[in-house]
This record gives sequence, C-alpha cells and structure tokens, in this order.
Amino acid sequence: MVRLNEIRRNEIAVVPPAATDAGLVYIGRIATPWTDRLACPRMGRADGPLCRIEVFEPWVAALDGLCAYARIEVLYWLDASRRDLVHQCPASDGVARGTFSLRSPVRPNPIGTSIAQLVGIDGPIVTVRGLDCLDGTPLLDLKPDRSLFTPVAPPQPGDFE
Ligand code: SAM
Repeated sequence: MVRLNEIRRNEIAVVPPAATDAGLVYIGRIATPWTDRLACPRMGRADGPLCRIEVFEPWVAALDGLCAYARIEVLYWLDASRRDLVHQCPASDGVARGTFSLRSPVRPNPIGTSIAQLVGIDGPIVTVRGLDCLDGTPLLDLKPDRSLFTPVAPPQPGDFE
C-alpha cells in the first residue's frame, strides 16, 4: 500500500541537511485524474488515461520540435512526499530497503520521472498517457525519450570511451 506520510516498522528517518537552492523552477503543472495518492497508479502505463501537461510562459516556445517524438520523458516534483527516509518498507511488512534501491516517491529530492506516450501538443498543452502523479503536480522538465533521441551536436571524444 502506498503511504501518506506515516513511518512504518523498521523504517529509518534522518534529519535532512538544510536545503540548498538548486535554482529549480516549476515550468508547468500536470493535470491528471488522481486527487488521492492512495489511488494513483504506482507506475504510469502506456494505456493509462489522458493527462494534460500545461507548460507556463516563458517556456512554451521550448516545446518546438518535441512533437517529433512518440514518447517523452516527463520529470515532476512529488511535492507531497516526505523526504527524510533512508530505509523504507514498501509493503509495510517490516522488510526495509534503501531509498535509492526503490522508485518510491519518498526520497531526499522527490523527483518523479515517467516515459509517457505523446498524444499531442496544442500551444502550451502537452497531452500524454503514462503518468502516475497527482492532479496539480509541478512540472520540472520534458525531454524526448532517450531511446528515440539522436544527439544533434557533432560527436565528441567522450562519446566513444
Ligand atoms: N514514475 C515515477 C518514478 O518512477 O520516478 C513515480 C513513481 S511513484 C512510486 C508514484 C507514486 O507517487 C504514486 O502512486 C503516488 O502514490 C505518489 N505521488 C504521486 N503524485 C505525488 C505528489 N505530487 N506528491 C507525492 N506523492 C505523489
């Protein structure tokens, strides 16, 4: 069962260091059918419901060219997550695992990422299937699915190491 913010048996919370300002900005907002974390899918599905990503100005021009890709990577900020667990028990069974061995939303920097099916782009609105976040989740970034992307810049030596 997905958690709200409770700590489970055998989980370990730490006191996180003070936040540093990485200068992140929310570049948009994601509209999904889910208003309850406990009802959200744990992982988005290619045949999941349509979700609507609204990109804010001044970033709308940055969508140019994205429509060439059938799948895109969506990065979002899981803003309702706690951020202090180093060991977690996903099944609430007392069996703890390290946070970095999981895709749980509970992590020091709660970045969620999904490969979504691109359905269409209309002005600032990107419609996709394959998300697993709450309605209103802040958007961090959009990129072509890496398996579909060929770098535009010429090769450089490190590419072949
Ligand atoms: N696909 C992403 C990934 O792998 O990085 C996220 C996976 S995470 C297991 C998905 C879960 O995060 C959902 O089932 C829901 O419980 C939770 N969640 C969704 N939106 C959230 C939000 N805005 N804040 C906190 N938790 C959220």
